[in-house]
Amino acid sequence: MEYSYFTLNGGQVGNLACEHCNFDQFNIKGKIKYAFLFLESIPFFPLKKKIILSCVKCHNILNNSSIDSGLYKSIKKNTFKFHFMFPMYTGLFLSVLALVYWQYVKYQENLLTQAHIQSPRKHDFYFINYHKINKNTRPNQHYRLGKVVSVNNGLVSLIYGGFTYTKSSSLIRDVQGGMTYDSRYFNADEHSFTIEQLQNLYNDDAILAVRRPINNRLYGNVVIDSISINKSYRTLAEMYNDKGLAFMTYSHIESNLDNAYKYFIKSSENGFSKGQVNLSKLYLGAGEINKALYWLDKASIQGNAVAIKLYIENCKTVNGCEKSIFINKLTEIGYDVSSNEVNFNKK
Ligand SMILES: [Zn+2]
Repeated sequence: MEYSYFTLNGGQVGNLACEHCNFDQFNIKGKIKYAFLFLESIPFFPLKKKIILSCVKCHNILNNSSIDSGLYKSIKKNTFKFHFMFPMYTGLFLSVLALVYWQYVKYQENLLTQAHIQSPRKHDFYFINYHKINKNTRPNQHYRLGKVVSVNNGLVSLIYGGFTYTKSSSLIRDVQGGMTYDSRYFNADEHSFTIEQLQNLYNDDAILAVRRPINNRLYGNVVIDSISINKSYRTLAEMYNDKGLAFMTYSHIESNLDNAYKYFIKSSENGFSKGQVNLSKLYLGAGEINKALYWLDKASIQGNAVAIKLYIENCKTVNGCEKSIFINKLTEIGYDVSSNEVNFNKK
């Protein structure tokens, strides 16, 4: 806490005598000493209140002990009125408000955790103090993530993150940083618990919190490899395209956009026309028209109607791009591109 002073103007008072000039009018000033934290403009609480009476004529300061105590009290009361004093408690008031809000958020989070423990679901994330489950942890390396991989007949199977930390906040950082998306983040060994055991672990503070991803996302990042959930792929290229799309869902996060590029490029290089179109769209958005046309051409040769349309549309804007050459090439392969509709005469 630091301290500062604030002065209130309390008007004037008469019927007093100045020791110097015998004038009877005095100016009233109220001086408040207050405590603040970081910001002088936000007082936390007042510490001291003092009345200063100065002669209107010669500015001589009156010795307060020379005034009648009843008069002094009434001056003090009028000067430090409640509505003047209230702002002196601003910091305290805000702190209490913040504390109440923080408690409320904690309360809500705990309710949610309890609910997730009672009705577990695949992909729930557990924030664990592992030291309370297994004493054989390295000193100070207590915190690790857990993830539900299956729920069968009331048995919940968890896998643990390969990393342990001294601080529980490191776990959130891993999630936010997109580390957990990589399936190698977690160890393969599964550990089964009954719901009752999980509840006990929560009561013992071994489970700190349980979070359930919404739309495959937790703390702003994609955490679930949605592709691996219920889908089988004919090709790797198709899977890469889906991974890219998963990252595009939250492309406002820069690392997600980078990952989307990465997977669309992999998909494109493996010859998947939808991946090539998606990559082209990213290039078009970034103003890299020539790169976009390169991949749109590849996808068009495979008969991708969206690619053909996008190629023709963007060809116009590029010097040296000949729409007729493109159409002739496709016609030679066996596609009918004469109308706006692309007819696939060839697979
Ligand atoms: Zn005077």
